[in-house]
Amino acid sequence: MQPLLADAAARATRYLVDLETRPVAPTPDALAALESFNTALPENPSAPAATLRLLDELGSPATMGMAGPRFFGFVIGGALPATLAANWLTTAWDQNAVLYRASPGVAFIEQVALRWLLEILRLPPSCGGAFVTGATVANLTALAAARHTVLARAGWNVEADGLFGAPAITVIVGGEIHPSVSKSLGILGLGRSRVVKIPVDEQGRMISEQLPPISGPTIICVQAGNVNTGAIDPVGEICRLAHAAGAWVHVDGAFGLWAVAAPSRAHLAAGIADADSWATDAHKWLNVPYDSGLAFVRDAHALQAAMAITAEYLPTQSEFRNPADFTPELSRRARGVDVWAALHSLGRSGIAQIIESNCSHARRFAERLTAAGYEILNDVVLNQVLVSFGESERTKRIIAAIQADGTCWAGLTVWQGKTAMRISVSSWRTTEADVEASVTAMIRVAQATR
Ligand SMILES: *Cc1c(COP(=O)(O)O)cnc(C)c1O
Repeated sequence: MQPLLADAAARATRYLVDLETRPVAPTPDALAALESFNTALPENPSAPAATLRLLDELGSPATMGMAGPRFFGFVIGGALPATLAANWLTTAWDQNAVLYRASPGVAFIEQVALRWLLEILRLPPSCGGAFVTGATVANLTALAAARHTVLARAGWNVEADGLFGAPAITVIVGGEIHPSVSKSLGILGLGRSRVVKIPVDEQGRMISEQLPPISGPTIICVQAGNVNTGAIDPVGEICRLAHAAGAWVHVDGAFGLWAVAAPSRAHLAAGIADADSWATDAHKWLNVPYDSGLAFVRDAHALQAAMAITAEYLPTQSEFRNPADFTPELSRRARGVDVWAALHSLGRSGIAQIIESNCSHARRFAERLTAAGYEILNDVVLNQVLVSFGESERTKRIIAAIQADGTCWAGLTVWQGKTAMRISVSSWRTTEADVEASVTAMIRVAQATR
């Protein structure tokens, strides 16, 4: 295996170096060449080296340069060096991170990572936590714990008896709820549409004065980090009102929760630790490789009640936490090790530095684009910038031209009726020089587009 793995490392390294200079989006030629993958299923084996070569020669050029420094689409980090290396090593370990007795080393390292996460995110140390694939499944996981608890308080065991005949649960969400939360509510039988929607302000924040009177089993879903504006709901105030009435507050903080880890941004998330559960991503602002999400629940027993399984053949009794008692998955990869590597290699100050610098890069984008005469549609409080280049069709044409130019990549959105380019700065690799090169290209392309 040694020459093969050395070849893989060499190819990966070359790929990452090339990202500095290649167009961020794959070229039309690279996409057309994908057709060469489209052969019949091989009858016979190939040499692994040939398999890898084909993947690199055809696959690498067809990738989007998400791991590079000038990809500003969606909210996507790039894998930190230590996390990429740890991910490779962990893949070689090939551990099933299911039970302590099956993979004790991984269970132990993940437990340390969870403790560190609670510390950096300033969440209660008693929380239960789960390493899952992303914020979508983290929302699902945490909301399952919420469903368990609000029904248990009403004398109903939802895991045993299901939802038929159960007391009704009121679900309150903001008008800017992320679709992954809606989807989670649907999967949990709480309904994507069967929700009370609270109006939001011009930044997309829930208006807490508009909360209805609360009684009976109730779950309130709030958001830290609107995907368009970066705005954070008034979580502290909502928790105060909710808890006075016995409701559960869940925070979708896929990236915005990380504001807590940056001294100049932490005030935006005031009161967030008062909630009952939280979902976030590690593959966004913590810059670990895909896929990696995190769920935290203040009452660890609630999470365990919703997720644990038992079977005769599974050694579930152990002196140590069994990871699978807290996750929807049974078998899964040891993704918590990548998270541990990020936290170990960056430390508290390194994490703060990435978030602070991404936020200041976002402000720089806004300043330069404003000075060039374009309209910024949001308060740039975090890492999100919404730019209008004028009327909708013109903005769309300019976004397409910026993507084709290849210096950088940003996507399209519609914010409160206005078409906009959405810039998300989330990568550890992005430097001031990358921002200057990108914003200069954006302005050049916009000025050249009729
Ligand atoms: C990205 C995001 C999600 C979904 O996260 P995945 O990691 O894609 O599952 C949910 N909520 C918000 C606010 C997000 O930004």
